[in-house]
Amino acid sequence: MRHFLVFCFGIIFSTNLLIAQLPKKSSTSDIYHSVQKLNFLGTALYIAAHPDDENTRLISYLSNEVKARTAYLSMTRGDGGQNLIGTELRELLGVLRTEELLAARRIDGGEQFFTRANDFGYSKHPDETLEIWNKKAVLGDVVWAIRTLKPDVIINRFDHRSPGSTHGHHTSSAMLSVEAFDLASDQSAYASQLSLTDTWQPKRLFFNTSWWFYGSEENFRNADKSKMLSLDVGVYYPLMGLSNNEIASMASSQHLCQGFGRVSSRGSENEYIELLKGDLPKNKDNIFDGIDTSWSRVKGGKAIGELLYGVENNFNFKDPSQHLPQLLAAYKLLQNISDEHWKAIKTLELEEVIANVLGLYLEASSEETDAVPGSKITIDVEALKRSKADLKLNSVSITGNATSLSTNIPLKTNIKENFKIDFKIPENTNYTSPYWLAKKGSLGMYTVDDQELIGRAETPIPFMATFHMAIEGTPIALKRPVVHHYSKPDKGELYEPFEVLPEITARINDKVIIFSDSNSKDIPVQIRAGRDNVAGKISLSVPPSWKVTPSEIDFSIAQKGDENTVHFKVTPPNKESEGEITPKVTIDKKVYSQELVIINYDHIPRQSVLLPASIKAVRLNIQKAGENIGYIMGAGDDVPKSLEQIGYKVFPIDLNEVQEGTLANYDAIVVGIRAYNVVDALRFKQRYLLDYVKNGGNLIIQYNTSGRSGLDFPNLAPYPLTVSRDRVTDENSPVTILANNHPLVNVPNQITENDFKGWVQERGLYFPNEWGKEFTPILSMHDKGESATQGSLLVAPYGKGNYIYTGLSFFRELPEGVAGAYKLFANMLSLGKTNSNLDNTPKN
Ligand SMILES: [Zn+2]
Repeated sequence: MRHFLVFCFGIIFSTNLLIAQLPKKSSTSDIYHSVQKLNFLGTALYIAAHPDDENTRLISYLSNEVKARTAYLSMTRGDGGQNLIGTELRELLGVLRTEELLAARRIDGGEQFFTRANDFGYSKHPDETLEIWNKKAVLGDVVWAIRTLKPDVIINRFDHRSPGSTHGHHTSSAMLSVEAFDLASDQSAYASQLSLTDTWQPKRLFFNTSWWFYGSEENFRNADKSKMLSLDVGVYYPLMGLSNNEIASMASSQHLCQGFGRVSSRGSENEYIELLKGDLPKNKDNIFDGIDTSWSRVKGGKAIGELLYGVENNFNFKDPSQHLPQLLAAYKLLQNISDEHWKAIKTLELEEVIANVLGLYLEASSEETDAVPGSKITIDVEALKRSKADLKLNSVSITGNATSLSTNIPLKTNIKENFKIDFKIPENTNYTSPYWLAKKGSLGMYTVDDQELIGRAETPIPFMATFHMAIEGTPIALKRPVVHHYSKPDKGELYEPFEVLPEITARINDKVIIFSDSNSKDIPVQIRAGRDNVAGKISLSVPPSWKVTPSEIDFSIAQKGDENTVHFKVTPPNKESEGEITPKVTIDKKVYSQELVIINYDHIPRQSVLLPASIKAVRLNIQKAGENIGYIMGAGDDVPKSLEQIGYKVFPIDLNEVQEGTLANYDAIVVGIRAYNVVDALRFKQRYLLDYVKNGGNLIIQYNTSGRSGLDFPNLAPYPLTVSRDRVTDENSPVTILANNHPLVNVPNQITENDFKGWVQERGLYFPNEWGKEFTPILSMHDKGESATQGSLLVAPYGKGNYIYTGLSFFRELPEGVAGAYKLFANMLSLGKTNSNLDNTPKN
């Protein structure tokens, strides 16, 4: 069992190269680099909280210069971030960011691991973070990573001694690492893990510090560096023709959805790492100093080293196949060592070196992108050897196939052999969707019960082709994943993961449907066939006291991948109510209610994600005034769609066409999130917006980010207004209504503290902290232990109209169907439009 587990982690390592787009084809420089890595027996583990936290300069340096096995353990998959390149948010963003991390690791040579912690959004303090994460479970996952990876050195990205100075997830990642450093070797800690692995004590723990943690470069220059190592990570690799920092920039530029695309840099550059635990290396530029990273660290390794160091020292760049005898001799010795950990890792590495010196090309591919359990596919196998060595291909087997294809042929030099294998996908095969999304999680944690899955970046590849060979008489079995291989006229040759998916999936496009009165709505449901000729019935389950017609609909779809749309009529009850609507598809008594989401970008392999097909339905008694809303899109949000759901007509405003008087017909104009950060044209058009207010309009501006010196936008408001970095991150923090008599909290909807229940992610961000006396602050709120902020919703009359600035997170609340947020937003849009006995002047 122990053996198997180490093996699994190794598999991830070697197949990362294959799963992404093109299979790696190694030049002699690449082979030489692999031999150097083969001869380094040391491991470094880098620990932080999110995708993009990791220091790719250091990871690349450790992997490519030091030649260490180097891994990045990210506490989370980054579900809580923004997405600059597409619409994926939350768990789908987590899938995208996982793949971006893997893409980065393919470039910098690291490996990627995770805990089960979920990125639930910004957290000010590790106390909060560790309460929302299940601290015990996440700590266990860090211990598990240490026990299975067995790092000699661990490097934290963040400082465990400074809670409150950065994101709570950051500090928590460092605190957990410090605790796990000691616990991993403790037999009594997380003892159940020890049936699958054994304890491990890393030698050193470091903190990857920089001047940033000291407040200024000058402070850092003067800081005591006696416990610090300084590493020049700007080294140049002649074999690659690249500087380490160039590789690092290419790797971090994979974080495209976070906007990390950047230019590369070259030249000498120092990284500082401060020793936290363990002994200080004597040699201050070698993180592994004093740790045996040679073959002699494993029992029986010395003889292997003698062979492999010989290969490295006398490497033949013109014809590396000359080294085959020594490589095979080392391979045979390696199979007899007792250290299962290094045996598994080094066997995989050595097998790939042997394959590469032979110019061996092995591929197993399907013309299908995906298939359903129980179906039959054809697997195309290609085997080619491009050196003179004697190689006999005995057989090819596929995971889960009882019989293997017996080939029994010698491969002739540079003559390719092709075979076809008819393969039935076993009925009990799991779907290939991300394993951490298979079960419902909590706010802070994914639910993963299988200990052997915990930590893994991706769902294990379902089918591997094993090529059973005899190379110069030595039996060696090489594995290759079954992939989908095809070409597109406009993209060229493509490799993608081969996936196993359900025979049917269903989806409702709107994830939240708001019923603002008791009228019924038409709900279209798309049904997608996962195989040819699928037929069945579909029904919709609705909350109690809601009605749906018809009760079921028959359907049939002839072609795999095709979609049918069916329509149901859903009627909400008279009173306010909310619940889930779920499509249920029945085929031969089996019920399906998952939807399929495909994530497809050029920088990552295609991802097929299965999610529960349920949507949220909300019956809301909401009053509103006005009808036509102009919307200026900023960085992108779904607020317009939400406003349409409650009956507004929303018109996107093209700023290029805005001139004197063109805005007059809107009942209100809403400015989308971060517009003043990202839309340059606002600098020239803002005066028209303020004129619109002066002439009786109603302008609502949502949050914008602010640097340390504030938001640089001179006429943001008609009166003084300073946007700060104040935010309230706890979505349950209490809210006090300050301006009880103001129309914003009275007409047309009465707002009470109850309307701030059920909010998600946060209250709001980048609240103004100073404003002119013309403004009325409407609400007060604060996170635990902090002083009250009053800038979340500010309103001021200007001319005949009203100017509203709000950092409340409507862009998160409305798409989630939060009733109170809708009512408050309707009041903002209705301001000045309703006949009311209430005085419109601020009183507070
Ligand atoms: Zn981060």
